[in-house]
Amino acid sequence: MTERCVVIIGGGLVGSLSACYFAKRGWTVKLYEKRSDIRLAEHGHLVEHRSINLAISERGLSALRRLDLGLERRIRGLAIPMRGRMLHTVHGRQTSQAYDAFGRHINSIGRSTLIRLLLDEAESHKQVSMHFSHELISADFDAGRVALKNTESGEHVTAHADLVVGADGAYSRVRQRLMGKVAMNYSQTYIEHGYCEFSMPPRNGAFAMDPSHLHIWPRGSFMLIALPNLDRSFTCTLFMPWRQFDTIKPGDDAIVAFFKAHFPDALELIGELHVRAEYEANPKGSLMYIKCSPYTYKNKAIILGDAAHAMVPFYGQGMNCGFEDVEFLDRIMLKVLGDGEQTAMLTDAQLLCALDEYSATRAPDASAIVNLALDNYVEMRSKVVGYAYIFRKHLEGL
Ligand code: FAD
Repeated sequence: MTERCVVIIGGGLVGSLSACYFAKRGWTVKLYEKRSDIRLAEHGHLVEHRSINLAISERGLSALRRLDLGLERRIRGLAIPMRGRMLHTVHGRQTSQAYDAFGRHINSIGRSTLIRLLLDEAESHKQVSMHFSHELISADFDAGRVALKNTESGEHVTAHADLVVGADGAYSRVRQRLMGKVAMNYSQTYIEHGYCEFSMPPRNGAFAMDPSHLHIWPRGSFMLIALPNLDRSFTCTLFMPWRQFDTIKPGDDAIVAFFKAHFPDALELIGELHVRAEYEANPKGSLMYIKCSPYTYKNKAIILGDAAHAMVPFYGQGMNCGFEDVEFLDRIMLKVLGDGEQTAMLTDAQLLCALDEYSATRAPDASAIVNLALDNYVEMRSKVVGYAYIFRKHLEGL
């Protein structure tokens, strides 16, 4: 068999899933992740400035199912089904809106739980080697060579591969290098909103709200949402324009007054002390989206996930779409291979054909999801409640 080797840069959600796929198809996989191994972290639930939990949908589950390694079953066992959204008015009235007439639903899962599971799965394949605390510094795709730095020892390392996969997130260095090799159209846009997370603890050992819903407090130009966790807490996220964050200084009671005015029922369940402390301690994240094309260079390099199409989180599809990238690439590689399942057997010409087709067909679809995610922000923060609330607020402002 042809000994094909892939270097994957980034051991996040998409990088770890693609390691599983390449390993299953007979490739030798070398995965490099700049952070230390999250599985060794004592409190590994907060992954940098990202959400603590995520909604995984059919789009993402399909990619897990296709691997046929029992991953979907294991993940469903660790996830909480959210069958609809629960809208909260300022007066605490709750209205349930089912997502689907046939009961299809999305699922809340802990981000670190998911990454840990995928890393464990990838590591269980004998042809996968994982190197944490290794940051990509530069890449020569034509030579199939990447240069990395061990962030703990400072040592410089070189790795060789037939194919370099950039799953290194929105600020991808692989994408930067790709730009130097192909005529890439590229745009990166920050939206005017940021976010801050708050945790809502269990009440008397039980969920403080109905866990079978994604909770939303839509308030026109800003909103609060909450997703359930297995420990019966909820993670609440406040999305708001930066100029509004700026008017609420940490360390005083302004944030409590803000919650009292707009989310009084949530304030009661989170607790004033908690709201004040978490607003002061928790990072405020910015939100942006990226569109670019093409995603590939010859048969030498490809970008997947946020590296190719970071999106705002309001559609809950960033990771799901990244998982779909991995599934889609696998489908195309198998189609081009024609016979058998070991894509490590692809000839150079076949690999080129597969990557070209991937880029040409995937980029328009990913761009469409990026747009849908943007549209859904308006939907979530205002349209779901109709215009009565916004109109009233407008009149109040007159
Ligand atoms: P990342 O998760 O960014 O992983 C990239 C990895 O590459 C990281 O581990 C990083 O350390 C590593 N890396 C970076 N540079 C280098 C380098 N030079 N060398 C080596 N390693 C490197 N998506 C959903 O589907 N559902 C949701 O409900 C959802 N909610 C979200 C809520 C919020 C608040 C946010 C901000 C995002 C949300 N998303 C959601 C989007 C989701 O988080 C991303 O789409 C997903 O994390 C992308 O995965 P990735 O592996 O492509 O990139």
